[in-house]
Amino acid sequence: MITIGCHLSVTNGYEAMGKTMLGFGGNTFAYFTRNPRGGRSRDIVPEDAAALNALLREHHFGPTVAHGSYTLNLCASNETTRANGMDMLAKDIRRMQYFPDSYYNFHPGAHTGQGTERGVELIADALNSVLFPEMQTVVLLETMAGKGTEIGRSFEELRAIIDRVTLSEKLGVCFDTCHVWDAGYDIVGDLDGVLSRFDAIIGLDRLYAVHFNDSKNPCGSHKDRHEKLGQGFLGTDAMKRIALHPALQNKPFILETPNDDQGYIDEIRTVLSWME
Ligand code: FE
Ligand code: FE
Ligand code: ZN
Repeated sequence: MITIGCHLSVTNGYEAMGKTMLGFGGNTFAYFTRNPRGGRSRDIVPEDAAALNALLREHHFGPTVAHGSYTLNLCASNETTRANGMDMLAKDIRRMQYFPDSYYNFHPGAHTGQGTERGVELIADALNSVLFPEMQTVVLLETMAGKGTEIGRSFEELRAIIDRVTLSEKLGVCFDTCHVWDAGYDIVGDLDGVLSRFDAIIGLDRLYAVHFNDSKNPCGSHKDRHEKLGQGFLGTDAMKRIALHPALQNKPFILETPNDDQGYIDEIRTVLSWME
């Protein structure tokens, strides 16, 4: 059984997302905790959160995956940007207490000229001041395409962050197929090789979720432009091998492909058909 869904808008609240995904035929979903480009978040209505949790249980959903804002940059050279990022992350993690058994992923950051080593240090310092022992969610660092000064373009960079975080048992990785490909990992020609490298460097037990996207660009392009399933450089065969790979079973697969509602419904149906 695969756990598959797509990114949804939180505009109508939490239970509404669960109902939408039921209608889409999936059993997980992702959402931005706040406006992805701005920074404001709506207050969570406890009854709404409880209604979603009941729906997820009743319909045997897999873990959902909240996504931190794109403006969150824990290693920005600008002090204010960095402080705002830490503030957003702290609040987001506290809000996740409403949703047990779910994950929170975010982009590790962009070092904006300070260098990778300093970037890694700043991200780890920020996580060390924000994570707390009683937190329920697992915070997932996303694998990045490596555009600009993005940190997380290699498994080694993610490992370096994890190594510096005291509560590292609260940390995992979200494997974005478009990003990993754009970063230079050949998941079309050598999926087994890439996953065993991931295992050797980070450990597959840290891989909690997959962002399931095709890519508009060739391997190593560092572009980060998502494409519809099977219509990009990954292609249907490779995406199917990823979805069926034994190491990735039972992880939530989240589509972040450029689609309207019907497009997502069709892609969810396609992925489910591979499992038959
Ligand atoms: Fe992302
Ligand atoms: Fe992603
Ligand atoms: Zn992306």
